[in-house]
Amino acid sequence: MGIGRYDWGENKFDTLVDNGDPANRVDVAILGDGYSAAEMPLYYEDVDKIISCFLETEPMKSYAKHFNFHRVNVISKQSGIDDKYQKPPVKFKSALGAHFSFISPRRLVGWDWRTKQVARRAGVPFDHLLVTVNTPRRGGATRFWLDVGYASRNSSDFPRIMIHEAGHAIAKLIDEYTGEIPDIKFLDGKSLPNVLPFANASLSWRKPPWEHWLTDEVERPTPRTDETQLDEVGVFKGAFYTKYGTYRPTIDCMMRRHSQEFCPVCREQWIKRIYKMTVIADSRTPDQDLETTVGELLSFSAETLRTEHIHTKWAIRDQQGNWQIKQETDSFAPFAYKFPHAGRWTVECVLEDHNPMLKKPSLIQGTRQKLRWMVLVR
Ligand SMILES: [Zn+2]
Repeated sequence: MGIGRYDWGENKFDTLVDNGDPANRVDVAILGDGYSAAEMPLYYEDVDKIISCFLETEPMKSYAKHFNFHRVNVISKQSGIDDKYQKPPVKFKSALGAHFSFISPRRLVGWDWRTKQVARRAGVPFDHLLVTVNTPRRGGATRFWLDVGYASRNSSDFPRIMIHEAGHAIAKLIDEYTGEIPDIKFLDGKSLPNVLPFANASLSWRKPPWEHWLTDEVERPTPRTDETQLDEVGVFKGAFYTKYGTYRPTIDCMMRRHSQEFCPVCREQWIKRIYKMTVIADSRTPDQDLETTVGELLSFSAETLRTEHIHTKWAIRDQQGNWQIKQETDSFAPFAYKFPHAGRWTVECVLEDHNPMLKKPSLIQGTRQKLRWMVLVR
């Protein structure tokens, strides 16, 4: 039983997508606020919609195996949430206390600490939390520290709004749209040192954080013409809530408009975040060092979460310490070898994600994983 604001379903949570051990997965737990006991079927449907949309959107689609999804079965005592913009204002005791911020009637937020407390009480494994909110008013938001994402189930683009919020909450991306803080005309075209801590917005057109995506031919700031392609990375004017003195990587992106896909820079940031919590391979076969005899064929493999673009290099080291690369492939492939003479050998497998969605060499290196076997050959 809850503490007066909520009850639990039969299970406190259900794992809906189980791709493996939470220790090596991005565990996303979804909660509902303002859903009464009678509205639980609706809640279940909404959660399913969010998960499908999430896994249909790149780059999460390509990295689906890196995610687990859980539904927290928290039931609000009443249907709906507080809405001070309604006339007269309505007050409900919803489970998580999601509400519309005084800043704007579209800014739907919650108390992140309370949401986390409920998730912890449910005992659900989670790295990130998303909250679907049952309220007639449209809206969604993630607080400025980019922690828990909230979206109204009645938003016109729900669940894409939720995916946009996941861009904040999980990928730590900032909004690329404008029009929320007053525009300062004087800053038009200025390039200031970039102090923004985000991958996808900059105060500088000279040195944006996505500089590695730009070629010398790209004009900065980049003029917007009729021929400008959606995926073309440049330094476009306007981002981070204001038109002037701020820059974004492409003309459009999910972080600007929900109808769009994530831009290349945001996709790269997603993958970077995915590798903060996961690695390429879960385990290896054999899972220990081994002994063999001269001439026996031994097979080595790794259980990779994905194989495409997983650049794989197999090498062996003989007793004298000399390395030889034996096999190198663009996508993951296992390895088999007959040791030519007795002694102590080492087999090494180096995995790296060479997905073209990753452009920065340091990010590719960040995905690197080394597996080693000691082999005693008799
Ligand atoms: Zn973007």
